[in-house]
Amino acid sequence: MQIKLSIIIPVYNEEKSLSLLATEIKSVMTGLAIPYEVIFVDDGSRDRSITIIEELAKFDSAVRAIKLRRNYGQTAAMLAGIDHARGEILIPMDADLQNDPHDIYKFLEKMHEGYDVVSGWRKNRHDNFFSRKIPSRLANFLISKITGVYLHDYGCTMKAYRTKLLREVRLYGEMHRFVPAYIAWHGAKITEIVTNHRPRKYGQTKYGISRTFRVILDLLTVKFFTKYSTKPMHFFGKIGFYAFSFSLFSGLLAIYLRQVVGISFIETPLPLLTVFLV
Ligand code: UDP
Ligand code: MG
Repeated sequence: MQIKLSIIIPVYNEEKSLSLLATEIKSVMTGLAIPYEVIFVDDGSRDRSITIIEELAKFDSAVRAIKLRRNYGQTAAMLAGIDHARGEILIPMDADLQNDPHDIYKFLEKMHEGYDVVSGWRKNRHDNFFSRKIPSRLANFLISKITGVYLHDYGCTMKAYRTKLLREVRLYGEMHRFVPAYIAWHGAKITEIVTNHRPRKYGQTKYGISRTFRVILDLLTVKFFTKYSTKPMHFFGKIGFYAFSFSLFSGLLAIYLRQVVGISFIETPLPLLTVFLV
């Protein structure tokens, strides 16, 4: 039977949330009655997460367990899940119960309307105001401006994608959040829905303010790749062209100063600059 939906869940030290999450998903999916799978990707947890995931997989054929050898980070864990997913539609979620499995209905509804990407928006977000909500506002503004794809909440893990579009995208660093923009550039139809967001009940967040900076650095990479990846010469060539032009100018100036004005080569930095620029 063709699997319709793969739910992908990166897990890093979330032992207390996992069983509850699996139960919630199960009850939602039973209501939907479509073939689905839940892929838990253990990202090198140091607690009992992997044991619990394997246990869940043993007793429920819809659950699959993937184990990463060490902690590679949320993006890499998600990528591992995507690589193994068999569903036509993918919905990544957090393992900490902050996303609400009941939102799966809304995501699928939008996908059936013909969208390729449905992005979650945690309108009432339950996270720290200063260390999380404010930086996130700023990041969303920047990402929207730079990518030209306007979303309120790039950081929300819960999104829905058409699998075949995602397979093309390689993810690094904190890049999983840019995927909507990336596939929108390639012509995907994208929309946004408000999702329920709950406070973290068990375990701890793995991130603080420093993630904002990493996200912004990754944003530069994304921008570079998309703008210049098919034409790197436009980027490097332009720099080279300017450098070479200036070298001609400084070289000629050095010769002019020596021959006409009488200032020798060693009196100015021009010859060195010329060599450097060439
Ligand atoms: N996560 C992961 N690897 C990591 C860090 C986090 O797989 O190195 C998972 C984590 O278990 C959770 C999700 O990514 O399912 C989001 O992490 P967290 O809840 O700490 O982030 P926040 O909700 O605070 O932004
Ligand atoms: Mg969380």
